[in-house]
Amino acid sequence: MSVRVRFAPSPTGHIHVGNVRTALFNYLFAKHNNGKFILRIEDTDLERSTKESENLIYEDLQWLGLDWDEGPIKGGDYGPYRQTERFDIYKKYVDKLLEEGKAYKCFCSKEELEEKKERALKEGKPPRYNGKCRNLNENQIEELEKKGVKPSIRFKVEDEDVVVNDLIKGEITFNTDAFGDFIIVRPDGTPVYNFVVVIDDALMKITHVIRGDDHLSNTPKQVLIYKALGFDIPYFAHIPMILGPDHSKLSKRHGDTSVNQFREKGYLPEALFNYLALLSWSHPEEKEILSKDELIKSFTLDRVSKSAAVFDFEKLKWI
Ligand code: GLU
Repeated sequence: MSVRVRFAPSPTGHIHVGNVRTALFNYLFAKHNNGKFILRIEDTDLERSTKESENLIYEDLQWLGLDWDEGPIKGGDYGPYRQTERFDIYKKYVDKLLEEGKAYKCFCSKEELEEKKERALKEGKPPRYNGKCRNLNENQIEELEKKGVKPSIRFKVEDEDVVVNDLIKGEITFNTDAFGDFIIVRPDGTPVYNFVVVIDDALMKITHVIRGDDHLSNTPKQVLIYKALGFDIPYFAHIPMILGPDHSKLSKRHGDTSVNQFREKGYLPEALFNYLALLSWSHPEEKEILSKDELIKSFTLDRVSKSAAVFDFEKLKWI
């Protein structure tokens, strides 16, 4: 198998050590296996995505030595690699799901959905969509569209167990009861993350999806979309998050963790590279000072730990 992995940041601000550690594990895994490391800009959130943030991503990755093989700027056979340039592709697959009856138009208003969600939460039930628009007929749809109501598109979910065999977390079973029919296109026509990520990973021939475990709960939804479209399901590897010194999820509260800031303060990129590689991964001989080449040589996913690592600002100061 020729390994293809990707780093898929959203350009909505600075990239932080958490994101860049994900990029680094992808990079090391690709290089270790003579594979390709792909960069994809996930800029479908039109309000929050900025060009400035996109440029910072390029600068931060280049500074750290995480050169990508395909992506914006460089191009590649499976591009374009910016999601806003791929809307026509997504539309084709949405239409396919609609035609095959695997997705449907939902005209419920935001207010109606909010109210139902709150009621379900109060009753201690999962806030699932009740399927009201699942069986609308052609005439009803036409009527609503004539009135100018803009629908969202929902993916049809049957009651079943979805098994995710994660290379780091092991086998996890999710029941679809927890989420029900979910939205893949918003009423304004923009497709959502869980849908586009599958189309892109499948068309870009990604073999291993290596990302933060905050995305683990999204994975069953993505698996259902892979199956509905007849795509091969990639391997998944969800990396534990990084914690702050007080063992809560690393965030701004703990101090500035943007890569840009380390760059401006004059840290050596090789030192940060080495430090980040050892957050939830360890060398087989427990070596701590490792060059990029040594890291590439020894990096395997089976040495990624299941538990979260602590980001130690003090230790980093001495590097
Ligand atoms: N754009 C998503 C993020 O930055 C990508 C998640 C993924 O790797 O699937 O969290």
